[in-house]
Amino acid sequence: MVTAEARREELKALYTQARGCTRCPQLAATRTQVVFGAGNANADLMFVGEAPGAREDERGLPFVGAAGKLLEELLAGVGLRREDVFIANVLKCRPPGNRDPAPIEISNCQDYLFRQVDLIRPKVICTLGNFSTKLLRGDPTGITRLHGRREARIVGTRPVWLYPIHHPAAALYTRSLQDTLREDFARLPALLDEPAPDLAVPVPAAAEPPDLMEGRPGAVPEHDAEPEAEAAPEPEADGPRAAEQLGLF
Ligand code: URA
Repeated sequence: MVTAEARREELKALYTQARGCTRCPQLAATRTQVVFGAGNANADLMFVGEAPGAREDERGLPFVGAAGKLLEELLAGVGLRREDVFIANVLKCRPPGNRDPAPIEISNCQDYLFRQVDLIRPKVICTLGNFSTKLLRGDPTGITRLHGRREARIVGTRPVWLYPIHHPAAALYTRSLQDTLREDFARLPALLDEPAPDLAVPVPAAAEPPDLMEGRPGAVPEHDAEPEAEAAPEPEADGPRAAEQLGLF
């Protein structure tokens, strides 16, 4: 039985690894810092946004700009604070000029997110907007069709309720979406009261014959493996301490 404390220590080690990541050379060259994610390392509820913006890149924390303020208000509306949940993004580095994440960047970064899910073990994952919804569902269906409806899914190695909702930044541009977001948020407490979905976790990909691994649906290869670190420079030795200092988790 792996304790919550042991999983938190592993999350810190993963953060140390991510801080030195150079898998996306452009993002590694232009970022101020890696925005790994923050909150309760043992949270029942995890939010997954798109990518850090300028404020997040500056502070090393997710959702600290205008969209983050709206997210905090929505959380408060259902009696939650950001310290109660874990907030992460599909990309851990800011795309220059806040452009959309490129497919190769999503693919390079996804192992970190799946490992975060494995370690945090949330019961509910709320995907914010299209990028995280498409990645975690392994399907191109857009948020407009999916928002506000929970689905039982395996994410990483965990059975979770996946709950897609609109991205708060979209609701800042299109004010009518704010009512929709509030309605979707209002269903979260009941969802959190439910047990995790009873889904069989598939056998890890590494245990399957190699020829069966080609072209499988879901497009999320080997996400139960540790993200590779060969290309990364030695990460700074103070990663775990930096996690504490930033109040990450
Ligand atoms: N938008 C996101 O998707 N993530 C952040 O961290 C901030 C804004």
